[in-house]
Amino acid sequence: MKTKPVGPIPEGFETLGGELAVGGRKASELVAAAGRTPLFVYSRELLDARIAKLRAAMPGKIGLNFAIKANPHPDVLRHMEPLVDGFDIASSGELALTKAAGIDPARVSFAGPGKRDDELEAAISAGVTLNCESSGEAERSLTIGQRIGKEPRIAIRVNPDFELKGSGMKMGGGAKQFGVDADKVPALAKRIIGEGAEWRGLHIFTGSQALSADAIIETQGNVLNLAAELADSIGSSLPKLNMGGGFGIPYFPGDEPLDLAAVGAALQGMVADLPVPLIETDLCLELGRYLVGEAGVYLCRVVDRKESHGTTYLVTDGGLHHQLAASGNFGTVVRRNYPVAIASRFDAEADDVVNVVGCLCTPLDRLADQALMPRAEVGDIVAVFCAGAYGATASPSAFLGHGPAAELLI
Ligand SMILES: *Cc1c(COP(=O)(O)O)cnc(C)c1O
Repeated sequence: MKTKPVGPIPEGFETLGGELAVGGRKASELVAAAGRTPLFVYSRELLDARIAKLRAAMPGKIGLNFAIKANPHPDVLRHMEPLVDGFDIASSGELALTKAAGIDPARVSFAGPGKRDDELEAAISAGVTLNCESSGEAERSLTIGQRIGKEPRIAIRVNPDFELKGSGMKMGGGAKQFGVDADKVPALAKRIIGEGAEWRGLHIFTGSQALSADAIIETQGNVLNLAAELADSIGSSLPKLNMGGGFGIPYFPGDEPLDLAAVGAALQGMVADLPVPLIETDLCLELGRYLVGEAGVYLCRVVDRKESHGTTYLVTDGGLHHQLAASGNFGTVVRRNYPVAIASRFDAEADDVVNVVGCLCTPLDRLADQALMPRAEVGDIVAVFCAGAYGATASPSAFLGHGPAAELLI
């Protein structure tokens, strides 16, 4: 039977008594602790290790922001609060989550198109920085600030003329719903400053999920040059520059992890030789999946094992309603297997070729195709890795009525 490879299992997962274990706890124990499957498990130890690794590689001058849309679970936010410098949100719902987690709004910036007036007002009155996506949004922010008697803190999100090469999702270059076209930024910035708003600088985000250090290094060089040029044209220094990020994680067979040391060394060189208009500027990267993606695993249970025309199906109680990305329906063109394993027989010999599917009544609900795995029976636990980002909240959990998965930070 033909097999298809699965993606690489991230570092930090172990075998204990034949089972997959995280933080010294076996998959079966984690399921028992949550009381049910399906279940997302997020590991503090793995989050800490990832951030420590980043801090060690990156210049101290560059701050680290967490783009919370990757994983806004309240316990994860509370854990991240002392570990990163800033938090990027994209809605007033996410603003409420940061508040509930005790995060100081002065550390929060709010990007994203289509901010409603009520969202702008909530952010301005809390003292959150708005990364304005258009001149219209900046004007509405100024008006709201005047009405409520509070100076808005405004940065401009720039739509640059370059993009992050090889990135999974392009968010810059050409016509975009994101940001203000670079050539229109100086005039808008002068207006914001002239109106007496608190000028917070620029936000330049060019793409996501890049695994090439060279592409990231080239883009970061372009970001610094563009920011310096814009600061020059604005005629005022930039208090802050959010440099974006786009650091990717390996999801699929053949993906190589990002060479963080190379990116860090290149950024060290850049910050040692900053263009003059940026010398006093606070710099930060904003990362989502790179911080949290590999620190999470999704566990679901085999509820049926069946044959159809010579193909074996492991039917689980999980699926695309929690793991849309693993099913291949979230930003991928060709479906490839995520890292998937039988958690309850983690070190057993792989001698069975199976399709792992979810419990939704749609052929889109696939977790692994033609994967070579240890033989699993009803009751076994399946693990889908790289589940710490864009899982629980980026999947249609209301679809077909099975409801959300449990989530556990350990
Ligand atoms: C989604 C998003 C991020 C995070 O992207 P990752 O690929 O998870 O790192 C960062 N910044 C902005 C503006 C975003 O929209």
